[in-house]
Amino acid sequence: MKIKCVICNKEIKEKNVIGINKKLFGAEIVNYYCMDCLADYLEVTVDDLNDKIEEFKDEGCKLFE
Ligand SMILES: [Zn+2]
Repeated sequence: MKIKCVICNKEIKEKNVIGINKKLFGAEIVNYYCMDCLADYLEVTVDDLNDKIEEFKDEGCKLFE
């Protein structure tokens, strides 16, 4: 199944990007955002999101690689 960004329609392949979407919006998530659109939506930077992903990884979250 292909996952596409709900805003720009870009295909999302990276496990970490899918992971942060699930982490933020829950396992029942329907609309995924790519990193750029997610940063825009949350009014943060892509760097902030990458930091967040690193934090979740450090916690041992299985959604990330
Ligand atoms: Zn997008």
